[in-house]
Amino acid sequence: MKRSLLFCGALSLLALSAFSAEAPRTRPNILYILSDDVGYGDVGCYGATHVRTPHLDRLAKEGTRFTDAHSTGSVCTPTRFALLTGRYAWRQPGTGIAAGNAAALIKPGTLTVPALLRQAGYSTGLVGKWHLGLGDGPTDFNGEIRPGPLELGFDSAFFIPATGDRVPCVFVENHRVVGYDAADPIRVSYGPRIGDEPTGRDLGTTLKIKGDSGHSDSVINGIPRIGFMTGGKAARWVDEDIADTLTARAVKFIEEHRDGPFFLLLATHDIHEPMVPHPRFRGTSECGWRGDVIHQLDWTVGQVLATLDRLKLTENTLVIFTSDNGGAIKSTYDDGTNALHGRQSPNGALRGIKGSLYEGGHRVPFLARWPGHIAAGATSAQLIAHVDTLATCAALTGQPLPAEAGPDSFNVLPALLGEKMATPPRDQLVLQNNGPAPLALRQGGWVLLEKGGRRTAADYELYNLTDDLAQKNDRAAQEPARVQELSALLKKLREDGRSRP
Ligand code: CA
Repeated sequence: MKRSLLFCGALSLLALSAFSAEAPRTRPNILYILSDDVGYGDVGCYGATHVRTPHLDRLAKEGTRFTDAHSTGSVCTPTRFALLTGRYAWRQPGTGIAAGNAAALIKPGTLTVPALLRQAGYSTGLVGKWHLGLGDGPTDFNGEIRPGPLELGFDSAFFIPATGDRVPCVFVENHRVVGYDAADPIRVSYGPRIGDEPTGRDLGTTLKIKGDSGHSDSVINGIPRIGFMTGGKAARWVDEDIADTLTARAVKFIEEHRDGPFFLLLATHDIHEPMVPHPRFRGTSECGWRGDVIHQLDWTVGQVLATLDRLKLTENTLVIFTSDNGGAIKSTYDDGTNALHGRQSPNGALRGIKGSLYEGGHRVPFLARWPGHIAAGATSAQLIAHVDTLATCAALTGQPLPAEAGPDSFNVLPALLGEKMATPPRDQLVLQNNGPAPLALRQGGWVLLEKGGRRTAADYELYNLTDDLAQKNDRAAQEPARVQELSALLKKLREDGRSRP
């Protein structure tokens, strides 16, 4: 009874959204946990055997586990761009993996997910990793840093500017570096070398660099990073404490906005390199430090779920957990744990890893919980993607999406709610690695991969995921008509500038 009422409620909400600004009857808090580099096989409820993820498994038990969810990019920056804007990153030049002092990649004024939710009366917060550029570039970290998250719809932001393995190794809160000391100005360079201030610390292991990884420009906290940084010594984070810091901030945000509605994007640093677990997690998994930071991530999820329980917000909060791209098998840092990775494949049976157009690059864990609205303990094989967040949040909050906003964002709310659908909310999806080419096009059970070059028939791979999820059997040579059809569609989607109907 309850479920059918909710089903009708969702339908009327959707109908209303097209014609009226009338407030929908249900307006849940939204806690969106975007983890980093967590692969399809890294979580217990997705088949991991050598790590334990009880809190993520709880989400699967109390919500729906999606088996065909994608990050649209197989590396960080393009994924985050698409998630926030509803637009494929490859449509905008310069949206590949951003330097730590890159200019803001999203233009202020863009209707982003937090901007849309703020229109609907939500308090919007970012805690965690940004990696979408700041300021006009190259970013000056010594003054007021803008534009950034606050100019793109977030009411508050506590964040890592880029990633843990690149400088600057400081947190930014709203427009300022946390703990900034004017007497020790911060200089950051991704070009000419500046200074060299190795500040070694005993991490209990030695994080050496393997080969020409690029992680050798600055040594901060004893860990080599990408890019050069001098100054800001008092402001530098402690790598072992990043998860604790971000978790405390997330809990604080939820506590302060308990009267809701709120939208919190908790973009964890875990499990991105350099994968430095807090000492209390070290040695707790059977997969070295990489497994230990999965435990640390699961602990973070447990802390925020417990906060929702404690504040009696669980029933009225939509919780989503996913990852920004597929898992990486080998750490750049030689921390002695790589040999243990073989015990458990980060991407399960999928082919490819982070940075690949194969499924392992972008098919990611995706758990959704909203008690009474999203089926508990269910599995969904619906095709969904992070780029759908904008249109889905518009439908959820009863707001029409302007034609120019979110050109690649589909409303997949019916898939989240487990509604019976005559047609799937999304049956095609364009996937990228780090730049505008090569791309992959998913349609139905088929996926076409560009190999680069002149785009002759031989420049494609074609797989039928329905019976070949591991992508072992390239069908391009046997299916020339399908290659032609899908490559023509991909060309059209490139040229149209949009894919949303
Ligand atoms: Ca990532």
